[in-house]
Amino acid sequence: MADGDRLPGPLKAVVEELARLPGLGPKSALRVGLTLLKWPRERSSDLGRKIVELREKLCLCERCAGLSEASPCDLCDDPRRDPTQLCLVTEWDSVLVLEESGQFKGTYLVLGGLLNPLDGVQPASLEFARLRDRLAQGQVQELILALGSTLEAETTASYIKNLLAADFPHIILTRLAQGIPLGSEVKYIDRETLKQSLKYRQNL
Ligand SMILES: [Zn+2]
Repeated sequence: MADGDRLPGPLKAVVEELARLPGLGPKSALRVGLTLLKWPRERSSDLGRKIVELREKLCLCERCAGLSEASPCDLCDDPRRDPTQLCLVTEWDSVLVLEESGQFKGTYLVLGGLLNPLDGVQPASLEFARLRDRLAQGQVQELILALGSTLEAETTASYIKNLLAADFPHIILTRLAQGIPLGSEVKYIDRETLKQSLKYRQNL
């Protein structure tokens, strides 16, 4: 920040942290910081407490690795969901988008990222152990990849294809149809495109 050094210490500290948030540059971070100062004291304390509670009250669901207040989460605990279909997503917010489409009645697993050997993202840093466990339980008949169409998604998809071929050859592997623009992430795809992609998913 150009004039960041002139900010009083406590404000500077908050603005520097805010500037790390997605979509917030130094200028908007300063605007947010000043807005927080104008808020009534209780309201800004309340916000601070809620941020602390984010980590304290949320956990990762033991089955799907999604964010939840309880484990297993509501989705995994719902007997109406079809356990034979497992949809693999990169991040938890993709589950929200897919659920909003209302098309999918199976279950999910959040991988936590995509393989990227150049950046040091190896299988061990993602939820592959959880995926294996889940597949080994024997209920899943179809694994649907909803990983997007980036280079990392392709790398991850071929890794999973090999994993299935070696250890779970009976499980059908599909992925969302490629109506999805190249280079895009599932969470940014509009609802209709996603709906179509799921409906016309392809064997992998
Ligand atoms: Zn869950």
